[in-house]
Amino acid sequence: MATKKQARILDGKAIAQTIRTEVKDEVAALVQRKVTPGLAVVLVGDNPASQVYIRMKRKACAEAGIESFEHRLEESTTERKLLNLVDKLNQDPKVHGILVQLPLPDHIAEDRILTAISPEKDVDGFHPVNMGRLLAGTGGLRPCTPYGCQELLRRSGYKVEGKHVVVVGRSNIVGKPLAAMLMQKAEGANATVTVCHSRTKKMTSLTQQADILVAAMGQAGFVKSRMVREGAIVLDVGISRVDDPAAAKGYRLVGDVDFASVSKKAKAITPVPGGIGPMTVAMLLKNTVKAATPQS
Ligand code: NDP
Repeated sequence: MATKKQARILDGKAIAQTIRTEVKDEVAALVQRKVTPGLAVVLVGDNPASQVYIRMKRKACAEAGIESFEHRLEESTTERKLLNLVDKLNQDPKVHGILVQLPLPDHIAEDRILTAISPEKDVDGFHPVNMGRLLAGTGGLRPCTPYGCQELLRRSGYKVEGKHVVVVGRSNIVGKPLAAMLMQKAEGANATVTVCHSRTKKMTSLTQQADILVAAMGQAGFVKSRMVREGAIVLDVGISRVDDPAAAKGYRLVGDVDFASVSKKAKAITPVPGGIGPMTVAMLLKNTVKAATPQS
């Protein structure tokens, strides 16, 4: 009887752990030079998912020897008050990276806050200056999730040069910067990139052409096997909670890809959880070390 095909599982958790160990060594070297990298994390309100994310980030910082400074503000905090805090953190020499956890409450203009962060401390890579540098291919701090996708491919031994990458999703934090990153005339890039979104027509005919397919839509299990080319590499960025009475918490996390069917057709695939999520945290640490590293 022929054995059923099964894709290689790209273990983001293990790769992220390797990066975190490397970061720890880099931090130790900086401490020798009397620089302790510091990351300020700002949370407005009490969004449960955001609380989980910042707890994970704090723990990762502590393990790597990065000092973290947590600032929790009430949901009703004014934009002015948040801007004042960002300004204070911009001036603070112990703070090398500033992360304002998104989403922010509706009464606060996200773009005004992100633009107020000093580009040199913008470890999330969302500041227009860093977005511009990314597009122009002139360095800067890169957004953690796309950076994590690129690093996961590289460390798994998959070259993107000359490959057709199809990204589903065009958000400023994932889809757009990932497309910009992978199309650069640079090592680890040089891909031909197609970006799909909710207005894309005949999307399946495009996803079927992908050597590397990245799903970043926030639609649980949307990408089915028929949308994927035989032998493709599939990165699943999506994270959605779906009700599951059998799970201890009453829900479980799933990605944008229908893992059960797609993993039988793809050459390699990231799981959810344990794929891109841990890579995102690892790249945040890497960005913090970069921001803390003296430029001379
Ligand atoms: P957004 O909601 O900002 O963007 C979603 C994108 O997907 C949009 O461009 C949207 O199109 C597109 N889209 C949605 N539905 C469809 C559809 N049916 N067909 C085609 N395109 C569609 O989400 P984010 O980019 O912020 O996040 C995407 C997912 O990734 C979420 O599940 C999020 O939780 C997860 N995420 C995971 C991270 C990690 O570390 N693993 C980090 C960040 C996010 P349009 O622009 O036309 O509306």
